[in-house]
Amino acid sequence: MESEVAPGAWGTTCPGCGGSAVRTVPDTCADQESVRSRLSDRLARQPGVTSRFDTFTHTVEGLLLTAVGGALAYEGIQKDKQLYTIGGSVLAVLLFLGTIYVIFDEIRERRVVAAGESRADALWRSASCCSGCGAVFFPAGSPWPHPLTPEQFQKYVWTEAGYGKRLDKRVRDVALPPAHPSRPGGVSDHA
Ligand SMILES: [Zn+2]
Repeated sequence: MESEVAPGAWGTTCPGCGGSAVRTVPDTCADQESVRSRLSDRLARQPGVTSRFDTFTHTVEGLLLTAVGGALAYEGIQKDKQLYTIGGSVLAVLLFLGTIYVIFDEIRERRVVAAGESRADALWRSASCCSGCGAVFFPAGSPWPHPLTPEQFQKYVWTEAGYGKRLDKRVRDVALPPAHPSRPGGVSDHA
């Protein structure tokens, strides 16, 4: 890895490899190299949410499509074509309900992410990442004195912040080590 890292910043050494090319997780995520290699995504503090503008756009789109169904039903009534009337009405109702569902789901997701943000931020900021071996660890030694994989770290942060349902299945299935390891050395399966 070519990224320049101030050795021993914080005077911290990696519990995984003993190296000193260690940065905080926020600094690691801000690095362009991490963005390119998608390490920033693997260490993301929180799930992405739909912006208010996008929710507005989805609302307009949904209502326009609902109006198309409504227009079809109206034409059916005008021209006495029952198929148009029924088809258009069903379409309009389904599209309207679908739109309502999408909008409320997006609003609910934004609320969940906002509610857990301070908890996620505190955990995310207290961790460091080793450029040498890719391990993530908590320099304070709590809740684990040994290194984690980025996936284990994300699962821990997101679960604690209430974002567990938003984890990728791949990350959700990752096992977290016990907080008090029975053997010294801890996990060594970081990829
Ligand atoms: Zn290391």
